[in-house]
Amino acid sequence: MRLVLIGAPGSGKGTQSALLCSHFGIPHLSTGEILREAKRLGTPLGQRVAPIMDSGGLVDDTLMLDVVRERLERPDCQQGFLLDGFPRTLPQAHALERLLHELNWTLQAVVELRVSTAELERRLINRYHEMENPRPEDQPAAIAKRLELFENLTKPILSYYREAGLLRTVDGMQTPDEVFQRICYLLDRAQS
Ligand code: AMP
Repeated sequence: MRLVLIGAPGSGKGTQSALLCSHFGIPHLSTGEILREAKRLGTPLGQRVAPIMDSGGLVDDTLMLDVVRERLERPDCQQGFLLDGFPRTLPQAHALERLLHELNWTLQAVVELRVSTAELERRLINRYHEMENPRPEDQPAAIAKRLELFENLTKPILSYYREAGLLRTVDGMQTPDEVFQRICYLLDRAQS
């Protein structure tokens, strides 16, 4: 199964990624996690992206594509993968299509987790207040920027995948289990 999961910060992408990856036995390719790990280890990549991530901004498309290419070329992606957090802009979506073409793969589905902006803000602010050591990217100013970038740069990708017949939209306001069941149902239908 080769999947992309798209959802705003706070949409439950992390939870659904974990459930889907264990269900399909595929690796979870979270670009946010890859960058956070690089930052934690202080690698050249981590040092370069740290200030951008901390402010809630987006890392440039070329750099992100290198990160994803390197990850997709690893052997564990042969049986499929779930991309979480990439693509996040239209140029990234186009670049992913070219990259997959080079690798002789196609995407099977793009799942959108749809949650209202008011609910996203509520969840992210609650999460921030519950954290003992919030990261810079979890601060209210960075949250606002991340939500705005999702609205302006990531949402246009949805029409691109809708036109390609790949988009499956799921109501992300239900319980995590209901959301997961619904995604599985839509993916089953897409396969048959
Ligand atoms: P995430 O965990 O997916 O919300 O990603 C955390 C942060 O990593 C984002 O706020 C961006 O700064 C950066 N990032 C992750 N994926 C991408 C991407 N595809 N394009 C640009 N920046 C990204």
